[in-house]
Amino acid sequence: MCSFLPRVLLLVFCTSLLAHAETKPSWTTPIAPFQIADNLYYVGSQDLASYLVVTQKGNILINANLATSPAQIRASVEKLGYRWTAIKILLNSQAHFDHIAGAAQVLRETHAENMVMDGDVSVVETGARTDFLWPSPNIPGYPPAHVDRVLHDRDTVSLGGVTLTAHKTAGHTRGCTTWTMRAHLPGEPAGTTRNIVIVGGTGFWSEYHFVATPRHPVSYPGIVQDFQRTFAVLHALPCDVFLGAHGGYFDMLTKLEQYPQRGPRVFIDPVSYKDFVEDAQKTFEQALTEQQAGAARAKRP
Ligand SMILES: [Zn+2]
Repeated sequence: MCSFLPRVLLLVFCTSLLAHAETKPSWTTPIAPFQIADNLYYVGSQDLASYLVVTQKGNILINANLATSPAQIRASVEKLGYRWTAIKILLNSQAHFDHIAGAAQVLRETHAENMVMDGDVSVVETGARTDFLWPSPNIPGYPPAHVDRVLHDRDTVSLGGVTLTAHKTAGHTRGCTTWTMRAHLPGEPAGTTRNIVIVGGTGFWSEYHFVATPRHPVSYPGIVQDFQRTFAVLHALPCDVFLGAHGGYFDMLTKLEQYPQRGPRVFIDPVSYKDFVEDAQKTFEQALTEQQAGAARAKRP
C-alpha cells in the first residue's frame, strides 16, 4: 500500500507512525537504583520498571524494557554491586515493546533462562508480529526472543530459596503477568515479611475491541472474560507493597521523595493498590458499556 503513495505523503504517513510509537522521555531517563526489600531492587528508568531479585544462586530480572534499555538496566545492576551475568532468569510483565524489547539482548549477554506466560509466548518469539493488535502504530516490533519455559497461571519460579508466583492477568496482553512474592523489608522487625505485588498492566486504548461490530471483530475471543478475571484476581491478591510494570502505576516518583527519611517502607501502600484496581476496573467497565451501546446502535436499521 505504501509504494503507491506519493513520496511526500509517504513521509508524512510514516512520520506519524513513528510519532505514535515514540518513547516518552520518562521511559529512557535513568534514575539511581534503590532497594525495596532485602532481596528486591529497582533497576529500571523513571517510569519503565525493572526489578532485580537477588538470591544465593544468582539473580532474577523482571523486565528488559525497550530495545535501548539493557545498558541502563545493566548500569543500575552493577551500581548495586551485582554482576550482569549473575542474572539466571528473565521474567516480564507483558509482551509489549516497552517491557520486553530488550529481552533478546539481555538473554544474549547473560545467558539467562527466558520464562514467559502462555498467552504471550508467540508474541515474544515473533517480536510482536502475533500480538492481537498487530499491525498497529502502537505495537512496534522488536527483536524476537526464544522462550525457554512457558509459564501458566500461578506457576512459581524459584531460585536460591526465593520464590515468585506468576499470576496470569490477561487482557492488556494475552499473557500479561502480575508477579507476587513475600519478602522482608529493611527497617522492619526481623521475621516480618510483606506481600509484594508487581502489577503487570490493566490498561487498553481505542484499538481494543471488546464487542464485535459489523466493522470489527473482538480483539480476541475471550478478551472481556480475561479482563474481568484479571480484576477478580487482582482484588483477591493480598498486597502490602504495591509495585508495577510502570512507576506511574504506584506513584513511584512521589513516593521516592519520602525515601531518604522512610526507606523502602514508602512502598507499603495497600490502600493505593485497592484504589488502582478499582479505578482500572471502573475504566474497563465503562468502556465495555460504551462499546456495547455503540454495537447496539450499529445494529439498528
Ligand atoms: Zn503494554
